[in-house]
Amino acid sequence: MNDYLLNDEDRSFRAEVRAFLQRELAPRAAAIEDREDWDAVKTVVRALGEAGYLRLMFRDLYKGSLQSPGLTHATILSEEAAAINYAFDTTIATATSCAYPLHRYAQPEVRERYLTGIIEGAEIGAICVTEPNVGSDSAGMETTITFDEATDEWVINGFKRYISNASVADTYIVYGISDPTVPPQKGMSAVVVPKNTKGISFPRNYTFMGRRGCIVGEVEFSDCRVPANHLLDKPNAGFRIMLSMFNFERVILGGSGLGVARSAFAIATEHAQRRESFGQKLGCKQLIWDKVAEMSWRIDAAELITYRAAKLYDAGTLSAKELMKPASMAKLVSTETANFCADQTVQILGGNGLTKEYGRAEQLYRDARALPIVGGSSEMVKYLIASVDLPQIKPNL
Ligand SMILES: Cc1cc2nc3c(=O)[nH]c(=O)nc-3n(C[C@H](O)[C@H](O)[C@H](O)COP(=O)(O)OP(=O)(O)OC[C@H]3O[C@@H](n4cnc5c(N)ncnc54)[C@H](O)[C@@H]3O)c2cc1C
Repeated sequence: MNDYLLNDEDRSFRAEVRAFLQRELAPRAAAIEDREDWDAVKTVVRALGEAGYLRLMFRDLYKGSLQSPGLTHATILSEEAAAINYAFDTTIATATSCAYPLHRYAQPEVRERYLTGIIEGAEIGAICVTEPNVGSDSAGMETTITFDEATDEWVINGFKRYISNASVADTYIVYGISDPTVPPQKGMSAVVVPKNTKGISFPRNYTFMGRRGCIVGEVEFSDCRVPANHLLDKPNAGFRIMLSMFNFERVILGGSGLGVARSAFAIATEHAQRRESFGQKLGCKQLIWDKVAEMSWRIDAAELITYRAAKLYDAGTLSAKELMKPASMAKLVSTETANFCADQTVQILGGNGLTKEYGRAEQLYRDARALPIVGGSSEMVKYLIASVDLPQIKPNL
């Protein structure tokens, strides 16, 4: 790891948060993976919140020692957490993605009520975009958010699926169509829905091949009503709010990918230097060198691209539109690198790579597979990248 783009403050933050996670998360990682122990997840979320790490994205609310908290440090936190347990990392990344629109777009009393608990680690947040008929094509969502003038309430009806932290979250940011007479980009709204609201239910949770311990499920809204002030920003501003969230979420996912890739690489290189085959260390074989070299340069490339995007974001000089390409590249390169490294590590370990008895290679392989799908699939972020390079052409989605 070269961390070429990081400065001394970033490095000292990395050392601090790594020690913190070794103390708080590492001893609970097996319980999260093997027993999907939600209490273990919550305990570490609480500890992170109390230490101030869940407010890194909010400079006005930050209380720690950093001179310039922001996305670079949030990405370092994500990388370090994912290196130990990616499921845990997704729980805090989702909570931060919920906190971000609350901080930026909620009315003061709503912001105070729901943001505080999340950044203190006392409460959990969730984001509801995906639906049974709508994933990548999020503009096509069917959930409706209508205003009832008689009661001064927003009324939500719809069905969301694949929602991280569903049923365990205290606060849900829900996106839906509020004006069906205009294109969805201009007719979508976002509202804040607390868990105990009448009309919200959680039909079921899913069983995924990886990310064990991060609860993902369905959320149904049936004539679910929230007060008028629970709207984020203005009516029909939802699509813009969603896009502004994606830039920082994709850089944080770059950190997640790096963490998973780094852990896999450590397992592979340790094994290649210890295991003997045909009378020599496995690592002496050229075909193994090839795999190690490719993992190594891919991790370095992912690191450079991810922290370039984080630094650009923190500099605050680029518009959301200008940040879209570097953030998409961070997400694409890091998450594909995580998959590549997890896959090659299993191969280098042979049978040991497929069993739980010989370590975490098989877990990393299962966990990594979600990364190129969540938060904008590899295909979708490639469209975003190419759309900047081919400004005269509208992509044929
Ligand atoms: C573990 C997990 C956690 C999640 N957490 C959340 C959450 O907290 N909140 C939330 O709202 N959502 C969440 N999601 C949903 C996630 O964002 C979607 O799965 C993702 O956007 C893809 O949507 P989809 O699964 O419906 O696939 P689809 O959109 O149906 O796509 C299927 C495949 O086709 C490809 N594809 C689609 N359209 C095109 C095209 N035009 N050209 C080429 N290829 C295309 C996609 O890239 C993908 O590979 C989560 C998903 C998972 C698996």
